[in-house]
Amino acid sequence: MRLRNKPWAKEKIAAYPQYVIPNPEEHKGRWNELFGNDHPIHIEIGTGKGKFITEMAKANPNINYIGIELYPSVLVSALDKLIENELPNLRLLNVNAKDLTNFFAEGEIERIYLNFSDPWPKKRHEKRRLTYRAFLELYEKVLVDEGEIHFKTDNQAFFEYSLVSFSQYGLVLTYVSLDLHNSDFEGNVMTEYEEKFSAKGNRIYRCEVKYPP
Ligand code: SAM
Repeated sequence: MRLRNKPWAKEKIAAYPQYVIPNPEEHKGRWNELFGNDHPIHIEIGTGKGKFITEMAKANPNINYIGIELYPSVLVSALDKLIENELPNLRLLNVNAKDLTNFFAEGEIERIYLNFSDPWPKKRHEKRRLTYRAFLELYEKVLVDEGEIHFKTDNQAFFEYSLVSFSQYGLVLTYVSLDLHNSDFEGNVMTEYEEKFSAKGNRIYRCEVKYPP
């Protein structure tokens, strides 16, 4: 993600605490109270500019969505979309996914989306990949039984690495496409990166995995 310096981003985020939740630790185990219903919660890690999560929230009013993004300068674009659309079933967090268990209780999340996560191609950076074993352990702590991860990328090597990582962890592969845009998969919602890379002719890989019972 190319980062433009936006010194005002943090201030803008702080001005919308109803959308970008300032102290997510306080809602651990109680996110349904914040949403005002018992609908399932799906999170996206590395939401970026928020196109995917905003469109998903619009299309699925009976699911609660939480978009997690590390960089304020990127998250402000997702915030702008939320301000414009006023979606009651979408909230944003400006936090690092490595701290996920501080924000969510065991079994609180039903599904995790990883869209075009940074591939960190150097072997010495493996631990930073969001599909690395330690992250899969973290996700398991907050997911329901048989919780799911839905993962998309245009990076073949990263996709292959992730399939192996999922499989070695014991996750069950329930869907895989090696060319999503030329498959019969219906209802794909494109992310900003997906639009950019597929326009360049890159193939999009997608899989769904679930934790064993
Ligand atoms: N998902 C978006 C898309 O497909 O257009 C953005 C993809 S971008 C390559 C990856 C995003 O993940 C970046 O915005 C980055 O800041 C965010 N990210 C990476 N590691 C993260 C972490 N540990 N916690 C939260 N966000 C993270």
